[in-house]
Amino acid sequence: MAKAAKKAKTAKTKSGKFVYLFGRKTDGNGTMKPLLGGKGANLAEMCRIGLPVPPGFTITTEVCTHYYANGRKYPSALKAQMEGGVASIEQQTKKKFGDLTNPLLVSVRSGARDSMPGMMDTILNLGLNDQTVEALARKTQNPRFAWDCYRRFIQMYGDVVLGVQKRPGEDHEPFETVIEGLKHERYHGGIEDTKLSVEDLQELVRRFKALVKERVGKNFPSSPWDQLMGAVGAVFGSWMNDRAIVYRRKYNIPTEWGTAVNVQAMVYGNTGDESGSGVAFTRNPANGEKEFYGEFLINAQGEDVVAGVRTPEPVAELKKQMPAAYKELERIRQTLERHFRDVQDFEFTIEDGVVYMLQTRNGKRTAMAALKFSIDMQKEKLIDWKTAVMRNPADQLEQLLAPVFDAAEAKKAEVIATGLPAGPGAASGQIYLNADRAVTASDKGEKVLLVRVETSPEDLRGMIAAEGILTARGGVSSHAALVARQMGKVCVCGASAVEVDYGKRTVTVAGRVFKEGDWLSIDGTAGKVFAGKVKTAPSEIVAGLIEGDAAARRTEKFRSFQQLMKWCSQASRMSVRTNADTPEQTDNAIAFGAVGIGLCRTEHMFFEGDRIDAMREMILAESLEERQAALDKLLPYQRDDFAGIFRALKGYPATIRFLDPPLHEFLPHTPEQQADLAKKINVPVDRIRARVEQLHEFNPMLGFRGCRLGIEYPEISAMQARAVFEAAAIVQKEGIKVRPEIMIPLVGFKRELDLQLEVVHRAAREVQAERKVKLNYMVGTMIEVPRGALTADEIAQSAEFFSFGTNDLTQTGLGMSRDDSGSFLPGYAEREIVTKNPFATIDNTGVGQLVDIAVTKGRAARPGIKLGICGEHGGDPASIHFFEKVKLDYVSCSPFRVPVARLAAAQAALSMKAPD
Ligand code: PEP
Ligand code: MG
Repeated sequence: MAKAAKKAKTAKTKSGKFVYLFGRKTDGNGTMKPLLGGKGANLAEMCRIGLPVPPGFTITTEVCTHYYANGRKYPSALKAQMEGGVASIEQQTKKKFGDLTNPLLVSVRSGARDSMPGMMDTILNLGLNDQTVEALARKTQNPRFAWDCYRRFIQMYGDVVLGVQKRPGEDHEPFETVIEGLKHERYHGGIEDTKLSVEDLQELVRRFKALVKERVGKNFPSSPWDQLMGAVGAVFGSWMNDRAIVYRRKYNIPTEWGTAVNVQAMVYGNTGDESGSGVAFTRNPANGEKEFYGEFLINAQGEDVVAGVRTPEPVAELKKQMPAAYKELERIRQTLERHFRDVQDFEFTIEDGVVYMLQTRNGKRTAMAALKFSIDMQKEKLIDWKTAVMRNPADQLEQLLAPVFDAAEAKKAEVIATGLPAGPGAASGQIYLNADRAVTASDKGEKVLLVRVETSPEDLRGMIAAEGILTARGGVSSHAALVARQMGKVCVCGASAVEVDYGKRTVTVAGRVFKEGDWLSIDGTAGKVFAGKVKTAPSEIVAGLIEGDAAARRTEKFRSFQQLMKWCSQASRMSVRTNADTPEQTDNAIAFGAVGIGLCRTEHMFFEGDRIDAMREMILAESLEERQAALDKLLPYQRDDFAGIFRALKGYPATIRFLDPPLHEFLPHTPEQQADLAKKINVPVDRIRARVEQLHEFNPMLGFRGCRLGIEYPEISAMQARAVFEAAAIVQKEGIKVRPEIMIPLVGFKRELDLQLEVVHRAAREVQAERKVKLNYMVGTMIEVPRGALTADEIAQSAEFFSFGTNDLTQTGLGMSRDDSGSFLPGYAEREIVTKNPFATIDNTGVGQLVDIAVTKGRAARPGIKLGICGEHGGDPASIHFFEKVKLDYVSCSPFRVPVARLAAAQAALSMKAPD
């Protein structure tokens, strides 16, 4: 506590300036995102480049930090600085806050450093009360507009600040229920919001206030300054709401960053048919096309567009309806791209024909759009090729490899509805209408499609669990669309033919009823909804690279992907290998650009066909002779497997790891399986049972495994070494270069490695003499236990290479079982003990330090020692950045992760070079 208070004090004294103006006088600029948040910094930047922005001020993120460090209290200087900010807006707009002739209304919005769509809250029309609403009505001569603003304000403020929200089990917002009730009473439900009369709106205001009183037990606040302070507190408060926390956890946004608050003069999109609000992208964020993309609603405020309550019209329609405003927007679109040199996602309001900018930020995009933007903008000379590489998020790249619907199947399938293509790709799943049930079904292993009328941030968990999202209402910038795009989820929204009945848990389309659990399929690239399950087909990239499909290779997507990969090779320092155990996996990885095998787990080779029987005979053997006889049966299998892999590698190196898992993993455990085996290999079943019992271990992962097996039974390693060298000799004689790298697992003592080295070198000598060949090979070790890392200098005297087994190194370094940690790690993440799953993203400070020590000691003992990583972290972009920092030579990952790793390796190299 004392520590937190001290920290807060330093934050306070650091600047003392908590409020930054924008407008005629602008204090900030676009580089100040940490202090002003993304929205505040860009509002300042837009003012600086002369775009039409209503004046306002930003309360800095330091205030948020202070607020949480000091029991939710503001710095004492804040209020006076805010008063200065309001005075400045008053001067520029010639309106006055709380005035009874020309009242100033403001919006209050959050703005974190990174945008968090749907997570934080916005309040519009703040400053209205029973008196100022009359003043606004008189001043604008538009009572309908004034009362519409007032009812919106009470609704938003009631929801966000006063917490009048849906209760558990309710499917509708309470304010919406009041609106629906009034519409039914007065118009039998058949009327749009925009057609409600002044009297209707006044009645809504009365009912809304009564609702607030009933739920909160207090009157709705009428003083504009009370309203403003309450709203600011609510924005800071929402930084810690569940939705924001879930979002931050998913995207690894640190809690300490905090949010800024933007207070800005209102401009009104709801004054009539010459007004409106919209959201637009300078290019299409779904497919990357260079076209003005977005949507607007006439006579509406911004929230209506993103809330998905009315389905907006495409921005191109504005050309006809308001040509002058459209022209201005086109000019703004060009200016934004030239200035920010990236695709912008912006919000605008048209008030009586005049365009105002409310926000701009780099647009979220699908992996497909990111690829096309980067390639196109490099061609247009807006960015250079290195920037183009950086513009493709590595952890999204897998979306490009995601399946699409099989064209023939999709043709046959029945299209039951169409909607907007909001998140590309193909998804088939069992439908669920509520996020909790979607999560439960997905936990059970079902493929889930979340179907909603529209989504809201509460649905986030369900959206994460779902394969795809289908909504009946809302446009391409609705919540569902934004979030789906960012998560790389397939999404179709605004499919108005889809009738969702939450009560009955059914979806009805053209009279056909689908119950929860029934299958639907959606094509988020074309915006189509299909009945039933539709088969998917590989993406053009996979078809082109893996299947050699010529038509796929001609597609723009394929060619752009290849261009990106070429740049990646140019930029990278580390190379990318693959974890593969079969020729087919090896072929795939090489097609994706892998330059060798970083880990061939030989144990997988013992499970196919009859091999497992020979393996079991070997384990059950009671004498060296018996064991040798079983190993002799295994040798040809292993040799053929290695030969196949060497051929597939076409000269690239292969790191082959000797037997690693505990032996009991190979034995049958049920009495039936044991009886079968006894018959098959002709040994008494009791012997099998006894051996299984004998091999039972309490902690098999820390037991008799890794090099311990080869040390106790050197004949196993001798067989494996012989198989590798015989295969190498055979393939080398076929004219193919072979580069075996034999890897001894789980080494913690130099002597362990030395004992295995003797066995390997002896086999090499024998095979070379027998087959009259000279083979080039290396022998090295995995560094995957802390003692191995700490004594890497000793081990490097014998090892020609190290490969970091970060799966085991994490397990042993953290003392957390890699198989059992699932029971408590999610709780650890919730309590922020770990920020990311350490088995997925390397724990830099702990396990990373072990890697760092081993790298330093290994290089000191053997300069030029080859260093790689083959744990799961080898395909994880954040971990790859760490491996670049400690200067490993390569990372190795599963074949389909290879493109991700190549991109991450390139980006890591480029960011290391970039000046800070
Ligand atoms: C490791 O431990 O990181 C590794 C690659 O080996 P395995 O996962 O097979 O134990
Ligand atoms: Mg391991």
